[in-house]
Amino acid sequence: MAEDLIDVATARARVLAEARPLAPERVELAEALGRVLAEDIASDLDLPPFDASAMDGFATRAGPPEELEVVGESRAGHPAARALAPGEAIRISTGAVVPDGAEAVVAVERTETVSHGGGQGPGARERVSVPARGDGDHVRRAGEDVRGGETVMSAGVRLGPAEVAVLASLGRAEVECGPRPRMAVLVTGDELVEPGTALGPGQIRDANVYALAAQAERAGGRIVGRALVRDELEATVAALGEAIELADVVCVSGGVSVGPHDHVKPALERLGVRERFWGVALKPGKPTWFGVHGSTLVFGLPGNPVSAMVTFHLFARLALEHLAGVVEAARERAVARLEGSLPRESRRDQAIRCRLETRPDGWHAWPTGSQGSHILTSMLGADALALVPAGEGELAAGERVELELLR
Ligand code: AMP
Ligand code: MG
Repeated sequence: MAEDLIDVATARARVLAEARPLAPERVELAEALGRVLAEDIASDLDLPPFDASAMDGFATRAGPPEELEVVGESRAGHPAARALAPGEAIRISTGAVVPDGAEAVVAVERTETVSHGGGQGPGARERVSVPARGDGDHVRRAGEDVRGGETVMSAGVRLGPAEVAVLASLGRAEVECGPRPRMAVLVTGDELVEPGTALGPGQIRDANVYALAAQAERAGGRIVGRALVRDELEATVAALGEAIELADVVCVSGGVSVGPHDHVKPALERLGVRERFWGVALKPGKPTWFGVHGSTLVFGLPGNPVSAMVTFHLFARLALEHLAGVVEAARERAVARLEGSLPRESRRDQAIRCRLETRPDGWHAWPTGSQGSHILTSMLGADALALVPAGEGELAAGERVELELLR
């Protein structure tokens, strides 16, 4: 492995080459948050669908100050019964249809009721005095937001609250979305016990099932299996075989090196999973393994929890997103200025956990302390991974670094 490490970009390209989008499915809008859109959305109507009032007040013709007779009302959802004629006003609410014949809306605060001839009875005539107003004042024009026929969203975007809201206003009760890729998480290690279990000699608690399953869910994956596997070849073969049957993506952590108790690679070989890479010029994350079995993608991630999380974020998350249909151009990219210098590694890129702060000149990134791959708390408070390219000397304070956002 050490001889033929590939760089991060090459490794990611190999993941992308294998991650073909899964067949889309129809999803109810109320369930669509976080899904990836699998169709272009063209509007079949104008938004707003009609000229609407932006104020509570009176709909009128444009013109000089004058006194008008109030002849009806247009409320939100209840248009006026008739059109407006010269000399008339129609009481109107925000969001109500501007009646035919009206050209402007006058805010109620700028008007004065001048008479209530006839009291409240059937003969009551309400008159209102209005100031000068121009054509279109306080009128929201039909189509100002969206024009009928316009494409408002493209396949490949992840649906956030705003996208869901726009789809609702376009009347889409269902949308075509990429499915949530099925993900199985296995961890290997005789030293591992579940949280909630007392520690025996030499034991530690398994952090990686929790880390990787949480990351997968954040990335839009659906967990279909999680297991803690002992450092035995047969057990590893059995657990991996089952996971490959169940899942679109399998992540297995630990046991992926060449020690006498590392069984992941021999097990994958036995199962016929075809290797696409093993060994990335990355710190942390060197012993990362990637291969395919039919349409299932398998990642062998290092056991150290930080390494597992970093490599999940850089490689497995990419796979989950692409299976779900994310278009590469829609992915978030960012840069920041580095606070404090960092020694470079001559042969490996580094993924430095950073806290971000926004300043007038953009983002600034502070490393979150010790960067050892076993220092899991260095992930606490980390907003991003700063990618420091391999090279000699140090990356000086103030230099720009590329970011992979963690949140
Ligand atoms: P390995 O890759 O199996 O050699 O493991 C590398 C290091 O990561 C060892 O110190 C393991 O104890 C630790 N490790 C492996 N798996 C986990 C896990 N699931 N949770 C926490 N630490 C782990
Ligand atoms: Mg191990």
